[in-house]
Amino acid sequence: MSARAEEIRANLADVERRIAAACARAGRSRSSVRLVAVTKTFPAQDVDFAVAAGATDVGENRVQEARDKKPGVRGSVRWHLIGHLQRNKIERTLPLVHRIHAVDSPRLLAALDAAGRPVEAFLEVNCSGEAAKQGFAPDHVPALASTIQALRSVRIVGLMTMAAFEEDPERCRPTFALLRRLRDDLRRRVGDGHPLTELSMGMSNDFEVAVEEGATAVRIGTVLFAGLPAEEGP
Ligand SMILES: *Cc1c(COP(=O)(O)O)cnc(C)c1O
Repeated sequence: MSARAEEIRANLADVERRIAAACARAGRSRSSVRLVAVTKTFPAQDVDFAVAAGATDVGENRVQEARDKKPGVRGSVRWHLIGHLQRNKIERTLPLVHRIHAVDSPRLLAALDAAGRPVEAFLEVNCSGEAAKQGFAPDHVPALASTIQALRSVRIVGLMTMAAFEEDPERCRPTFALLRRLRDDLRRRVGDGHPLTELSMGMSNDFEVAVEEGATAVRIGTVLFAGLPAEEGP
């Protein structure tokens, strides 16, 4: 096995162990959390190494990169679009991906639905309130219930968020807890027709806290693919 394949296998095993430990702390089953291995900026061969090591789902944040990479991947894996989707790219995205994680505006949601193809999506919520982040404001989420009920081809599987980067991931906990409360409330308002069971939250820096707060999909790139960080100086 190549050194790169070994590295990815070891990183994946370590992340798996950490997810399992976080599930155990929270009294959850490991099968309730899906690991989405984020392969953006990494080559198709890395995707194959991850699949060989057991990855079942990969995430890309740009449609074009996913399109370019997918033909070079031999292993069978589900593709997730985790980044912002432009409306003019909807048609070429839908055949490519299993799920869309970052539906971040009413206009994008309407355009996705108008495409008329069945698709599963998450609504992105800007829980951390940072101006640079996209997504619906938490205050607007309850009012989305009627919009969701009127959808014809998009199924809303849950909510997604990106926490602010924190040295101490414990400080991300309120962000994740907020997303869970918003999801629980929205599910009650929407009723049947949309699962609204999922929470896409948690990245390399904070995924264990996200799992403890109920994440059903963690999107992890750096700690799987980028190798070890450089040693810090004294
Ligand atoms: C890049 C990216 C991730 C993965 O982040 P890491 O810190 O590399 O684990 C997760 N979600 C989104 C939306 C991303 O763009």
